[in-house]
Amino acid sequence: MNYKKLAERLLPGEYPSPEFYEAKYPPRNLPKGAEVTRLAPSPTGFIHLGNLFAAIANERIAHRSGGLLYLRIEDTDLKRKVDGAVEAVINALKYFDIAFDEGAEIGGDETYAPWYQRQRAEIYRAFVKKLIEEGRAYPCFCTEEELTALREEQTAKKEITGYYGKYAKCRNLSEEEIYAALDAGKPFVIRLKSLGDPENKLKVRDAVKGEITVTENDQDVVILKSDGIPTYHFAHAVDDHFMRTTLVIRGEEWLASLPIHLELFDALGFPRPRYGHNCSLMKQDGETRRKLSKRKDPELSLEFYRKEGYYPRAVKVYMLTLLNSNFEEWYLKNPDAGLNEFPFKVEKMSKSGALFDLDKLNDISKNELSKLSEGEMFAFLKEWAEEFGSAAQKGYFADEEKMLRVLALCMGVGGKKRRKDFTTASQAMEFVKYFFERPAEHDAYRVENGVKCAILRAFIGRYAAADDAQTWFSKVKEIAAENGFAAEMKDYKAEPDRYRGSVADVAEVLRIATTGKANTPDLWTIQQILGGEETLARLTEELK
Ligand code: GLU
Repeated sequence: MNYKKLAERLLPGEYPSPEFYEAKYPPRNLPKGAEVTRLAPSPTGFIHLGNLFAAIANERIAHRSGGLLYLRIEDTDLKRKVDGAVEAVINALKYFDIAFDEGAEIGGDETYAPWYQRQRAEIYRAFVKKLIEEGRAYPCFCTEEELTALREEQTAKKEITGYYGKYAKCRNLSEEEIYAALDAGKPFVIRLKSLGDPENKLKVRDAVKGEITVTENDQDVVILKSDGIPTYHFAHAVDDHFMRTTLVIRGEEWLASLPIHLELFDALGFPRPRYGHNCSLMKQDGETRRKLSKRKDPELSLEFYRKEGYYPRAVKVYMLTLLNSNFEEWYLKNPDAGLNEFPFKVEKMSKSGALFDLDKLNDISKNELSKLSEGEMFAFLKEWAEEFGSAAQKGYFADEEKMLRVLALCMGVGGKKRRKDFTTASQAMEFVKYFFERPAEHDAYRVENGVKCAILRAFIGRYAAADDAQTWFSKVKEIAAENGFAAEMKDYKAEPDRYRGSVADVAEVLRIATTGKANTPDLWTIQQILGGEETLARLTEELK
C-alpha cells in the first residue's frame, strides 16, 4: 500500500511538518522540576466538584513547583456543547480563585495558544496525515448502522465491544477497495491502527495511585471524525504535548481511557506526560458509599455552591482536607496561614474514594466565616445578594451602617468568643431578615397568651430606647417579679415551684415578639439597632 499517496488523497495539501510544530511550540523555559499542569474541561454546561477537586490539585502542584497551570477548552464534540458553558466554567473557577497562568479567556503567554481545540484543527490534521503516511492510521467507511450491528453482535457473544482485531473490518481493506469507496464519495473517519495486544499488561506509575496495571489498548479508536474534527483522545494527546504538559491530574473516570492515550503518545512519537488519577468523590448513602451523582446530588454541581453562597475559601479548605491527608492537622496548627503556604504533595493525595460530607463542609464554613470582620462579611454578602438575592435582600445593604451593626452583633465581633451562626450567604441573609423586615411568623410562645400580653404591655409602658443595657435589664427583671416569675435565675433554681418561670422566660417573650425567634443574639442590642419606634411597633403588633 502506498500510504503517502493515500494520506494525500484523504487529507490533500501541504501541512506543516512535526519539526515546524516542535519549533513553534518549544519546550517551556522553566526551572527543573517545574510542573506544567492543565485543566481541560469540555463545555457541556456542567462543571462539578470533581473538576474543582482536580483544579485545586493541579493549581497547587504547578505553583508549588514553580511551574504553571493553563486552561484548555476541549470543544471537539459539538453535540455536547452548550451555549454559555465556557463562561460558566470560567466564572465557577474564578469564584474559587483558581489561579490560571494562561489559557482560554485568560490570556497569558500566547506561544502555546490557541486554547480552544476547535481553533487547532490544522495541527491535529497534520499529525493525522503523518500517521496515515506511516501506516498507523486508516480510513474507515463503516456506517452507523454497521457499527450498531457490530456492537449488538459483540454484546450477544459477550465479547468486548468496539472496533478492534478481527472486527476492525476497514483495517484490512485493499488499496482498490479504499479508492473505490473514496471515488464513490463515501464518508469516512480516520482510525488509529492499534498495535496493542490485550494479553499484554502494562505497568504504569500513576502519580496519585502509584504503580498500576492496565491492559494494552487494541481498539482502533477514531482519531479524526468525518467532519475533519479530531476526537478528544487524539486532540488531547497533541495538545498535552505541544502545550508541554508535564503532569495530568484528572478524575479516575479517565483511567479506562489511559491505554488509548498511552498508545496515542507512542504512535505520535511524543514523550508521555505523567498521569495522576484522582479518586472519586463519594457520598455516604445509608449503609453504602456511592459516587456523587449528577441526578441525585445537587451538591455535585459547582453552581450549587455559588447559589447557596458558600464562602469560597471554606470550600477550598474542605477540598484540601480531602485532597491531602495531612492538611487538616497542618491547618489546625496554622489557622491563619494562607492556604498556599500548605506544602501540598501529590504523594499525599488519597488513592481511593474520598468521602464528601456536606455537614463537614458546613462546619468548616461556619468556622471560616467566623474569622471575617463585619466589613468583609458585608462585602461577601452584598456580592452574593446582588447576584442571587431577592429585591428585599438587595435592599438590606442600603443602610450600610445598620448592616454593619447587625453583622457585628450576629458574628459576636468584640465579644469573648465569636458566634458561628453563619454557614452560607443565603442562610446568613435569612438569619438577619428580622432586622430589616417585620417577622411574618413567630416561634411559639411558651407562656399563655394572657401572660404574654401582660408582659408585653408592661414592657411597652416602661420601654425607653435611650436606656442602657443595665437599665433595660432591670426593667425586665421588675416585669418578671410583678408577673410571678423569678427575677433572679438562682432563686428560680432554688425553688422552681414558687414561680411561673424565670426572667429568661420573660425575656423570651420579648425576644419572640421583637424578632419572631426564640434564639437570637443580645436582645437589647437588637432593639437598639431596630430603634425605639420600630421596637414598640413590633411589640404592640403582638398584643393580640
Ligand atoms: N475534556 C475532558 C473532560 O471533559 C478532560 C479529560 C482529561 O483531563 O484528559 O473532563
